Amino acid sequence: MQKNPIIAGNWKMYKTINETLDFLKILSTSLNNQRADVYIAPSFTSLHAAKKAVKGSKIKIGAQNMHYESEGAFTGEISFKMLKEIDVDFVILGHSERRVVFKEDDCLINKKVLTALNSNLKTILCIGESEKQREDKMTNEVLEEMLTKNLLNVSKHQMENIIIAYEPIWAIGTGKTATSEIAECAHLHIRKVLTKLYNKDVANNTYILYGGSVKPNNIEKLLQEHNIDGALIGGASLKVDSFLEIINKS
Ligand code: PEP
Repeated sequence: MQKNPIIAGNWKMYKTINETLDFLKILSTSLNNQRADVYIAPSFTSLHAAKKAVKGSKIKIGAQNMHYESEGAFTGEISFKMLKEIDVDFVILGHSERRVVFKEDDCLINKKVLTALNSNLKTILCIGESEKQREDKMTNEVLEEMLTKNLLNVSKHQMENIIIAYEPIWAIGTGKTATSEIAECAHLHIRKVLTKLYNKDVANNTYILYGGSVKPNNIEKLLQEHNIDGALIGGASLKVDSFLEIINKS
């Protein structure tokens, strides 16, 4: 790990506005000169209040999803225009829960990625294999296919706004963390694919986060790996103590 790490919390469908504000108050007053850049993706309803609450701190606030159209008859959806209006700093796209539970496919995710990048929204693109794909030794192939399809028509220049999160599905919310060696191997492969799709500079400059049961007791080992630039964290980002401990150890 050479870059300043990014420690990102994905809060999924947890925390009301009040709970979000209580958390951010403690977090922002506890941060001083930590190395890590801190990202948090609360619920849509908390975004506006969260953005206001972190003003002047180094915490970045982002959305967990968005639609690819700017507006329209899409009941229940949120557009980039709505996110830009409250000045969110980033959006998470392609999370495995969106892919598996809500059946989002690579083509849809690519449309969302292009919309986010065309509106200058930093994007955390999640990719990762299932347990079966890993057992079948398909991990590298799956990662290459996802990157190729999800980044279709994304320019070299736009890659500056892409952060990749390698999140093996079998490690998300299960307590099974990929060993740092397994994660490093996948991250190295992702860099090779980015070199093939773009060039070495793009591959080296792109942040690649690891996600999957990251906790205070495994963050240091993961970040010691050369190609792991930070972490995307679900469960352990919901408690301010454990999230802070992860930030402090990064
Ligand atoms: C996630 O939801 O992106 C995630 C990595 O969750 P957890 O840390 O709970 O495995």
